[in-house]
Amino acid sequence: MQRDELATRNADAIIVGGGVAGLTAALKLAPHPVILLLNAPLGSGAATGWAQGGISAAMAPGDSPQQHASDTLSAAAGIADAAIVALATREAPRCIEDLMALGVRFDRMPDGGLALGREAAHSVNRILHIGGDGTGAGLMEALITAVRACPSIMIAENFAAEELLLNQGRVCGVIARATGQADAEPVCLRAAAVVLATGGIGGLYAVTTNPAGCTGAGLAMAANAGAKLSDLEFVQFHPTAMNIGVSPAPLATEALRGEGAVLVNELGERFMVHEHMAAELAPRDVVARAISRQLHGGHTPYLDCRTAIGESFKDRFPTVFALAAASGINPSTDLIPVAPAAHYHMGGIATDCNGRTSLPGLWACGEVAATGLHGANRLASNSLLEGLVFGARAALDIAAQCGGARDPAPLICRPKFQSYDAPELAPLAQRLREIMSRYAGVVRNENGLRRALMELDDLMLEAGQRSARITNMLIAARLICAAALQRHESRGGHYREDYPATDPAQQYRSFFYPSGMDAQQHEARARA
Ligand SMILES: Cc1cc2nc3c(=O)[nH]c(=O)nc-3n(C[C@H](O)[C@H](O)[C@H](O)COP(=O)(O)OP(=O)(O)OC[C@H]3O[C@@H](n4cnc5c(N)ncnc54)[C@H](O)[C@@H]3O)c2cc1C
Repeated sequence: MQRDELATRNADAIIVGGGVAGLTAALKLAPHPVILLLNAPLGSGAATGWAQGGISAAMAPGDSPQQHASDTLSAAAGIADAAIVALATREAPRCIEDLMALGVRFDRMPDGGLALGREAAHSVNRILHIGGDGTGAGLMEALITAVRACPSIMIAENFAAEELLLNQGRVCGVIARATGQADAEPVCLRAAAVVLATGGIGGLYAVTTNPAGCTGAGLAMAANAGAKLSDLEFVQFHPTAMNIGVSPAPLATEALRGEGAVLVNELGERFMVHEHMAAELAPRDVVARAISRQLHGGHTPYLDCRTAIGESFKDRFPTVFALAAASGINPSTDLIPVAPAAHYHMGGIATDCNGRTSLPGLWACGEVAATGLHGANRLASNSLLEGLVFGARAALDIAAQCGGARDPAPLICRPKFQSYDAPELAPLAQRLREIMSRYAGVVRNENGLRRALMELDDLMLEAGQRSARITNMLIAARLICAAALQRHESRGGHYREDYPATDPAQQYRSFFYPSGMDAQQHEARARA
């Protein structure tokens, strides 16, 4: 698609991002015309396609949305929004049925019943899979087929959003640029609704499981526009990324531990037994810290699948098998070296149950949003679910408003940045990632976080306004460090070695109001 063609298109909504959340929103908005803006070709660049574990939903006899909600709340370390949790777990079975209607073929037992797996901190088997560990790929295939066949969706691949357009306090469009061209001219797209579905922030860390483009662009754009943000300090580190010198680090899915794989060090010690009564099935943050301690103590942690899974590994976990085999590891017979990697952001743009942000005209869904579903720690396989539930709800909310009077005020489109990307700033981006891993990673403390903020500020000066991509990364990184500095306790994915205990007095979600506004001013502006 050409820039001029894009600039002249009329749409009711612009959806930024083509993972589970963005594609669901686009489909549910049909027949309203939407522009689906993607900084990569459709199907690549989205974490969704990489999901191995599955999607959670209470579909088993004997399971219930209430039980699913209870497990979600337990994992969330006391600060999930109970109403949102109840809503998401209640809507989960219907989302699965919607996917089946779309042609998704979930794995089944020989008797035809759904084959439901188990993952850490789920009290019953409720994880649905597509093609074993290929759930994300299977999900994307079905959504993409439907999106390509949907005439109301205009797909704009390889265009990155870099700024939100505001008109009298209302979000009314985005500024985007073609990727991969140093001199690409900005294009201003206008619509009554903008949906940010740009995914997570793993790419801000040196070791991550996320696709390289998951660098918090949506979070930074929303912050720049003054949207309310929430729970930014809570980053989940996947405990068992394969530590084989590959970036992004391939994931040894949690389902392996669900099937009985154990963690050992080079001495053969099963160290999780001493860490938590659930041993390898302890919450992710507990496992991540234990592995981190092993690494800092000079040990080499491994995932041992030899006994529990053994020869059946290749058939049951073909994706993980192929990833390991590419580095010369045969998980049926070899130990898999593992390390924690930035994996999932619980925090993001604060939204209500319909994906509405604090800014009129702006919705957010999927990993970039903070609905309150995950609290301080996400329950495994709840994030694809979140994208399905809230992508659909945002779409229905927008659809209910479409057809209303458009804001007639003229639009001023003055891009802040000289380019989307500036290849000469690649070393600066790498420094940013190292700062984040060192100071805002699995274990944090006040000195480190202050140092991170200072170093990020230096990088911000160095970067100037040359690259939207890099400045947005710096803004997102800065926000995470600032939020981590403010929470003087350890809870869920946020561990402070200077405040190692969980403090009952701090059992609340954090909210952050950019632009120096306090909560009251912000609410007043949102109402105006
Ligand atoms: C390896 C791995 C395994 C996982 N396994 C599971 C699992 O088993 N179960 C589970 O529930 N969750 C899992 N997760 C988490 C889950 O995959 C994600 O949270 C979820 O897919 C996020 O969906 P999303 O639609 O919000 O974002 P994504 O799927 O990441 O999509 C983001 C989209 O935004 C686009 N984008 C980003 N920035 C811009 C920009 N500036 N302009 C235009 N487009 C932009 C990207 O190209 C992409 O299309 C896993 C994550 C990873 C990385």
